[in-house]
Amino acid sequence: MSPSENPALSRRAMLGGFTAAGALPLLAPGTAAAVAKRAPLQANTRTKAVLLGTNGGPGWGLTDPPRMGISSALVVGDRYYLIDAGEGVGFRLMEARLGNWEARAALSGLRAIFLTHLHSDHISDLSNILSLGLYNGLSAADRPVPIWGPGNRGELPPVAGDRPEPPVVSPQSPTPGTKETVESIVRTFATDFNDRARDGGTPVPQQLFAGHDILLPEQYLADPNGTPHPRMSPVPFYEDDRVKASTTLVQHAPVFPALAFRFETEDGVVVFSGDTGPSKNLVELAQGANLLVHEVIAEEWAAERYPEPRSPEAEAAYQHLIQSHTAVEEVGAIAEKADVSTLVLSHFVPGDWPVGKWQRAARRGFSGKLVIGADLDEIGI
Ligand SMILES: [Zn+2]
Repeated sequence: MSPSENPALSRRAMLGGFTAAGALPLLAPGTAAAVAKRAPLQANTRTKAVLLGTNGGPGWGLTDPPRMGISSALVVGDRYYLIDAGEGVGFRLMEARLGNWEARAALSGLRAIFLTHLHSDHISDLSNILSLGLYNGLSAADRPVPIWGPGNRGELPPVAGDRPEPPVVSPQSPTPGTKETVESIVRTFATDFNDRARDGGTPVPQQLFAGHDILLPEQYLADPNGTPHPRMSPVPFYEDDRVKASTTLVQHAPVFPALAFRFETEDGVVVFSGDTGPSKNLVELAQGANLLVHEVIAEEWAAERYPEPRSPEAEAAYQHLIQSHTAVEEVGAIAEKADVSTLVLSHFVPGDWPVGKWQRAARRGFSGKLVIGADLDEIGI
């Protein structure tokens, strides 16, 4: 749908929305006829990636088949790890039959949550998990579930284009990291948590979960506006009896820090790219992985949305879009360089571009197995 077809959205208003936070536009309903329909892939392996939501961007995914907000699970035996928590994640956890889902306790198997970056489309349903979690299997029986993600950016990004400085949101803390984000969610639901703890004796948040900022060496954080992102080697930050996790900075300016994750298990290695343009850091992180779950954008579609000639604001929005994501024509060569066995595409921008086009473009330069992901696909190792 073009702005002229939707009088509620002037082009200017749309562009303003896009540039505000590197956000992505709404997907157009009714243009999804070419999306191939197939049953979700299934895997019976002990370790597998499950794609819970594969939509790219904050628009509710009115695609066919529907793509929920971005979220994936790494399953290792009877436990699982959540990577991002986009819109619809609770619903998809039940559909994916994770945890003790039959007893309406899908979160009973959740071991940890990892957030790649703090764009709203990656964390909008974190508040859902933390506020409703008690009634969906989150319990104080084990240790609190850790929520790992980027730390505080430390300074606001510059204003893009030729516009005046906008008012600062939450000036006392305008760029909270993961720990503070989790604490804010707890504050938001304090009435409910306190009410239920006093009335029903339920556990309180500090018994259930805890937010943690991933600490990266200071030298890589010196310039949060730096483009390209600083070159670095992976940093280990989490380990339990099933996975060892390491991370690296990826290219998603103006958002910073933006992270990718590598999980090493007894069965093999699974890597999640997060949102990123092409990144040497990611190639190093993904080296030799069994599975690489990678984001993609159709640049052809982005160019159509921002036709030339572009205003400075439109140019800034267009450049953010194509530089902070990976063109599908490049993703195959990235996976080849990283020597991964299986490349799994997710976070599709746009969510309703034809599957055949993703397939043909991603195949270029990649000799391994390729999966054009759909919600609820399971890919085993
Ligand atoms: Zn993002």
